[in-house]
Amino acid sequence: MEQSFVAWAKMRARNLPQVKLGIGDDAAILQAEQEDVVITCDTMMEGVHFRSDITELRRIGRKLVHINLSDLAAMAAIPKALFLSLCVPNNSPNRAADVIAAEIFEAVCQAAEEHQVAVAGGDTNCWGGPLVLSLTAVGYTEGGLAWTRSGARPDDLVVVTGPLGGSISGKHLDFQPRLDVAEALRGKLEVHACMDISDGLSTDLLRMCDASNCGAILDLSKVPITEAAQQLANTSGRTPVEHALGDGEDFELLLAISPDDYPRMVDLLGPQQAIVCGEFTSRTGLWMREGGKILQLAASGFVHR
Ligand SMILES: [Mg+2]
Repeated sequence: MEQSFVAWAKMRARNLPQVKLGIGDDAAILQAEQEDVVITCDTMMEGVHFRSDITELRRIGRKLVHINLSDLAAMAAIPKALFLSLCVPNNSPNRAADVIAAEIFEAVCQAAEEHQVAVAGGDTNCWGGPLVLSLTAVGYTEGGLAWTRSGARPDDLVVVTGPLGGSISGKHLDFQPRLDVAEALRGKLEVHACMDISDGLSTDLLRMCDASNCGAILDLSKVPITEAAQQLANTSGRTPVEHALGDGEDFELLLAISPDDYPRMVDLLGPQQAIVCGEFTSRTGLWMREGGKILQLAASGFVHR
């Protein structure tokens, strides 16, 4: 399978100027720019991150691209190239290994093309185990400025780029990485810290606080909640805001911005993508403001009453 697949993949992947040498050699050559190179990698495993008997391969392949691009967006990097590594089962009852590989490669190429990213290399193997997909994404900074999660300061605003929670109802597969936000703010606004929300606002905000050596107070009444989270709360035994804090796989961005810069942020993004739901504080840990009181908030997003 390897040689004919590589020949097809070489033809299928679009040539973009950032790739000097793409699929087919021992390694790829990317056009160097005088910028920092930002690299991220994610793996998705059958039975752990997806089930290919209930989710189409094209959606799984697309999600794999988007979770990597979301990480690049969180660093303010411009995505340039993807490297796909596949371990494909050779004992699948209803699909040949090369059909599975081609379907995923096609989905990866389509998602890459939407964002002008090249598929520049990778590796394909067959085995008797389950389907495993791994993607490495490479991007460049602009002006040498990557955003990290370690620069939040006390009194900065906690800003998120969209409503949260309930992604299990579909958004976790069909979200768009927030490259548009990175593009709009990059170089135009001083972003003190940024990360994408993959494990839930409360968990990821605490990670940002720990990395920045500060704390944060969330105003639960201002946390934006998706319609899907509202729906789930009818049957889950959890409140809508608990879903918004704890569900994860939202892939919105979480940013730390000085209050002085916030009006400019709204000018650049619009109010729907610049939602303030708290502030950073010098007291470490995660807190919530409720009825004039400040209470500790669990990283799970579970609100103790
Ligand atoms: Mg991330």
